[in-house]
Amino acid sequence: MDPVTASDYYGFESLLTEDERAFLKNTREFLDSEVRPIVNDAWEAAEFPHHLVPRFAEAGLVGLAYPPAGHAPVSRLLSGFVGMEISRVDPSMSTFLGVHNGLAMGSIAELGSDEQRERWLPAMADLSTIGAFGLTEPHGGSDVARGLETTARRDGDEWVLDGAKRWIGNGTFADLVVIFAKDVEDEQVKAIVVEKGTPGFSATKIEGKFALRTVQNADIVLDGCRVPEANRLQRCASFRDVNRVLKATRGGVAWNAVGAQRGAYEAALAYAGEREQFGRPIAGFQMIQDLLARMLGNVTASMAMAVRVAQLQDAGECRDDQAALAKSFCTSRARETVAWARELMGGNGILLENDAIRFFADVEALYSYEGTREINTLVVGRAITGVGAFV
Ligand SMILES: Cc1cc2nc3c(=O)[nH]c(=O)nc-3n(C[C@H](O)[C@H](O)[C@H](O)COP(=O)(O)OP(=O)(O)OC[C@H]3O[C@@H](n4cnc5c(N)ncnc54)[C@H](O)[C@@H]3O)c2cc1C
Repeated sequence: MDPVTASDYYGFESLLTEDERAFLKNTREFLDSEVRPIVNDAWEAAEFPHHLVPRFAEAGLVGLAYPPAGHAPVSRLLSGFVGMEISRVDPSMSTFLGVHNGLAMGSIAELGSDEQRERWLPAMADLSTIGAFGLTEPHGGSDVARGLETTARRDGDEWVLDGAKRWIGNGTFADLVVIFAKDVEDEQVKAIVVEKGTPGFSATKIEGKFALRTVQNADIVLDGCRVPEANRLQRCASFRDVNRVLKATRGGVAWNAVGAQRGAYEAALAYAGEREQFGRPIAGFQMIQDLLARMLGNVTASMAMAVRVAQLQDAGECRDDQAALAKSFCTSRARETVAWARELMGGNGILLENDAIRFFADVEALYSYEGTREINTLVVGRAITGVGAFV
């Protein structure tokens, strides 16, 4: 059985149309020939492979949900499968594209005016403009909804931004960053697009990061940074609007967690067939089969959840708490699956070349970003009990 069929045990891919499956097959071929060969070196060096940026655009992997005028967006089911395929090869690359496609383009599409969408989205759809999303702050992670320290002060036709942002993916090289700040006038959250080179904006790479090493996360400082009112996303009036963006992207993180699990499971299955101990392949040992079956159960359950969330999104019926449950469940199962893949390989499991330890480390970031397990659990808990337990 080929690896793709082996890790899609219940054949979820058959839910796609014939054209969609052909697109997915091309995506896999592109990833196998151009991305897979460089991922371990890029991860080890913690360097972003800029040469791949135009190739991602040419392969049609950008702006699937927010295409240029005249093109229909693809289904959430297909964009989910595409994100999963990228993560199956490299969660860093799916995170790079998730930040650009989902968080940055998503903010402009959801929160911007028609003119603003027209101004930025076409260049973002071919990656000639790369986006980032600046919400988290040094003192504000899980509790960002409670209030931001970064301020926006209106001064005539401009806004003056002061504050700091942390963990901002693509932040070191992005052409634009959507910065969320508290309007000192009405104390509500405003979203303001800050373009590269704006005086008062600086970004420094966070060093010493041992998950998603290829993604360039930045500390951003805004020091009297002046931005025209024309860059304030016109349809962001409060944190409730920011949540509309996050609802869509949390489903995407669930797909990324499925991809990481499939990548690790496929590597473990192949390894089990090749590695011999006690005179036979370790695949023939009951406890190894137990690990593989448990991994496959996790992969399959996570994929079922991601698929159903995408179907609900396509029907316009996905609730916040449904996306939150998928994000927390799939990333939790992913932590188990990648650890079992590593365990199955024994000592070799900690070598990059065997494709387990990179997934093992990367899943730690997926587990925490876009709402930790605890925070997404509280979103679910509030929905199922009717009682908010956020403190
Ligand atoms: C690799 C990476 C990439 C990222 N990319 C971006 C990005 O591009 N843009 C962006 O804006 N942000 C980004 N983030 C930030 C990310 O969204 C935050 O890390 C996340 O929301 C958690 O915040 P925190 O790390 O400050 O943890 P904290 O909020 O400090 O939480 C610490 C611990 O306390 C728990 N906790 C907090 N509150 C409660 C509670 N009420 N009840 C129970 N437990 C609680 C948490 O679950 C966690 O276990 C990124 C983070 C990482 C690691």
